[in-house]
Amino acid sequence: VPGHEIIVRVVNIGPDVTRFKQGDHVGVGCMVDSCPHCAACKHGLEQYCEEGPTYTYSSIDRIDHMTTFSGHSEKIIVPEKFVLRIPEGLGHMAIKLSEDLGVDVTLFTRSPGKEQDARLLGADNMVICTDASQMTVVNNKFDLIIYTVPYAHDLNLYMPSLSLNDTLVLVGFLSNLEPILNTTTWVRGRKLVAGSSIGDIAETQELLDFCGYKHGITQILS
Ligand SMILES: [Zn+2]
Repeated sequence: VPGHEIIVRVVNIGPDVTRFKQGDHVGVGCMVDSCPHCAACKHGLEQYCEEGPTYTYSSIDRIDHMTTFSGHSEKIIVPEKFVLRIPEGLGHMAIKLSEDLGVDVTLFTRSPGKEQDARLLGADNMVICTDASQMTVVNNKFDLIIYTVPYAHDLNLYMPSLSLNDTLVLVGFLSNLEPILNTTTWVRGRKLVAGSSIGDIAETQELLDFCGYKHGITQILS
């Protein structure tokens, strides 16, 4: 049981719980609670709670004011709203989602040795981002770039490969970007740079249902 990808059986429910019963197979993600009266919470976007969501690990619980200890706890008490239904048989999910969504996926990487991994993950193509000729081939090609690099890395490399009006979304890096960003391609191509955190509870449930009930995405990649 990793710290924030908890899969458990319900051992007990509170008197007001209606969606789950004892013995149900359920999951808990990164969050276990939020305020719930701010604008973000009211829109079902608890991960952006203005007071900060209570995370599953290393947060201060809103009710008992103790530190949350993640999936390494023997038991965990979570408000019903933050509990997800887990389809039976669903283990960890691999990134086969793109295939099932019918999306054409290209992996940007610096290491040619990743080709086999990229194929296994379901990527249709791979581009070596340090190879200028390969990068030129993908100019204006992508509708969306999901930028998962967890350290400062040159975003300027990727902006030309976005097409008109499209967006690069940062999901894994929380600090100052280096080197300085050049806005020429953004302005000329009406391109966007955005950020995104984890999904909200409804989105997470939709993803689990998609994987488990509809597509049987259960494979684990190690
Ligand atoms: Zn809130």
